[in-house]
Amino acid sequence: MDPILERYQALENKVAQYTPNLNTQKLFDAFTYADTEHHGQLRKSGEPYIIHPLAVADIVADLGLDMDSVVAALLHDCIEDTDATHEEIARRFGEPVAELVEGVTKLTRVQYVTKEEEQMENLRKMLMAMAHDIRVILIKICDRLHNMRTMEYQSPKKQREKSLETMEIYAPLAHRLGMQKLKWELEDLSLRYLDPVGYKEIEDEMAKRSAAHEEFLASIQMRIQQRLEQEGIRCKVYGRVKHTYSIYRKMFTQNKTLDEIFDLYAFRVIVDDISECYNVLGCIHDMFKPVLGRFKDYIGTPKPNMYQSLHTTVIGREGIPFEVQIRTWEMHQTAEYGIAAHWKYKQGMANQKLGTEQEFEWVRKLLESQQDTDAEEFVRTLKVDMFADEVFVFTPNGDVKSLPAGATPIDFAYSIHSAVGNSMVGARVNGRMVPYETQLKNGDIVEVLTSKTAKGPSRDWLKLAKSNEARNKIRQWFKRERREENIATGRAAFEAELKHAGIPLAAITGEEVLPHILHKVRFGTLDELYASIGYGGTTAAKTVVRIRDELLRLGRLQAEKAAAAARTTAESVIVPGSSAQTPAKPMPKHSDSGIIVEGMGNCLVKFAKCCSPVPGDPVIGFITRGYGVSVHRQDCPNAAPERRKPEEADRWVKVSWVESSLPNYKTTVELSAKDRDNLTLDIATALSSAKVKVTALAVRAMADGHAIMTIELEVKDRNELASVINRLNNIQGVYHVARASGK
Ligand code: MN
Repeated sequence: MDPILERYQALENKVAQYTPNLNTQKLFDAFTYADTEHHGQLRKSGEPYIIHPLAVADIVADLGLDMDSVVAALLHDCIEDTDATHEEIARRFGEPVAELVEGVTKLTRVQYVTKEEEQMENLRKMLMAMAHDIRVILIKICDRLHNMRTMEYQSPKKQREKSLETMEIYAPLAHRLGMQKLKWELEDLSLRYLDPVGYKEIEDEMAKRSAAHEEFLASIQMRIQQRLEQEGIRCKVYGRVKHTYSIYRKMFTQNKTLDEIFDLYAFRVIVDDISECYNVLGCIHDMFKPVLGRFKDYIGTPKPNMYQSLHTTVIGREGIPFEVQIRTWEMHQTAEYGIAAHWKYKQGMANQKLGTEQEFEWVRKLLESQQDTDAEEFVRTLKVDMFADEVFVFTPNGDVKSLPAGATPIDFAYSIHSAVGNSMVGARVNGRMVPYETQLKNGDIVEVLTSKTAKGPSRDWLKLAKSNEARNKIRQWFKRERREENIATGRAAFEAELKHAGIPLAAITGEEVLPHILHKVRFGTLDELYASIGYGGTTAAKTVVRIRDELLRLGRLQAEKAAAAARTTAESVIVPGSSAQTPAKPMPKHSDSGIIVEGMGNCLVKFAKCCSPVPGDPVIGFITRGYGVSVHRQDCPNAAPERRKPEEADRWVKVSWVESSLPNYKTTVELSAKDRDNLTLDIATALSSAKVKVTALAVRAMADGHAIMTIELEVKDRNELASVINRLNNIQGVYHVARASGK
């Protein structure tokens, strides 16, 4: 029999074993079609090309994948390497097969350049996201596995490239999909070409000791098995030597020789339930000496990928340390097959214990039941969840860019550099010119066309850009490039705001004042300030508030000087030293006072606590010693003309309210009422419906059944205060409301 036909027959038999009612004709047709299409092509080994698709299909069948996957594996290189088309394959073998082949072809076309780890992770994610069907990834991994197995025929350059790609992309993907065995083989094969000397050293050493290893494994395995049986624990014990790459990595990272490597051997004890795991651990620690600090309870604290097991390292009589992993069958599924096993258990297969022949059954089950919603949902989350909000595209030289889903060439351009975005005049995706609003897809190769004479971004781009990065950079551009325009609009907004606040422009442009003002708002020049307001970097309102603060500060300094001058005069007249003691306390905090002090410019203002004036009240100011101007109501007893000391006469100054003053004023109201249930509640309700802010409220119950309440509140002006008092007066039982009088 023809050796190739023989190989085909073996494949058919393998698939038939796990596929009831196998359509052998379809399988055979696929084989014949691929054989014909690849006719005349040779592998580097000199064999006919069809050997490769046959071998890949064989690995796919080892995984227990469905019929369509096996057929697609036979055809997987047809679109790429022969005249076959998607349509032709769809017509002959059905659309699902054509889509699988197309998917594998797309992954094959992804260009690979080794990059730093972050780029690799993007590339892995991109492959996952590109493969709309998880079977595409699985077939691609099988394809890569066969290519790695036959890598010896390739040039050293190709060997290195493919091995690096396998180590950085495909082994981690296999790991992510829980395909531990494939992962190990991929790693070992790659290592063989990436560090041939190191690889051979380990292989040779291990071969030398192989008999001893086998003996050791068998003896330990038997001892554990016997002991656990005595204890009445049903279990299965496996022993193995760790794979070459994991030994290599340990030697490399720990800088040790093979003899110094701690765990060369690993044993696995698989039991029925969790409590038995801990019983087994007890027995193991009783039989062998545990190595301190090596016990890990991943049952109590599972790894992020759901891995659960107890790990311990022990030393036997032989003085050889080995690792023991203890887990239930369910945990074993998860450990071997990843997240998919978890799903499978949820599907009610918990009672099955998998032997080796069933090891990859989860994939088949997974694929078979893709029709039912749960499985569909699962497959969707497995593949897409992690990357649903990202899209991965290539630069022309093979860098992978991760952009938010829905990103356009504009996002791409700005992700490279703002200069690229600003000089963009067009974009190509996969070699074709596209409009700017085109949404990029995974695996697209995006190229930005730039020109030195580009006009820069348009405002529309802000809508087309999906990423904040691009939008910010576009705004930045407008900030710089439209300076004249920004200055004009910014200046207009600023001057309007200044006017609103009652500050004449001349008040800040004076030679002595302006540098302080600019320093306060942190701009070098007024134009810079205007430009910033113009493009929206800051607002006119915010700026003016800060400017007013600064003017007040400057005014206060002036007031202090005036006060100091007054003090010197006063001290010489009154008892020397008596009033000069007032230590320089820190300035009380103030916001905009809303008060104009005549003849003083802007200066620090505080409102006298004795009478708490509010706007509209007739007021008068008193220049204090070091605290700016204190403002009293004119009817405040403390400000009564007869109580003003003659020697302080020049300290009493005229003050008036700024017309539109925004801030609120604190004042105090006293209320007397007949005490009753809910009085306080009614008062609080009245105050809150009047929308005034209450800062303090104190009630004193008097012996005669009356209550006196002191309410500290903030009001805009005299009118608002009057209306609040009116409301309070209308509350049942209240018989007197008045502003607190000066004491
Ligand atoms: Mn291939």
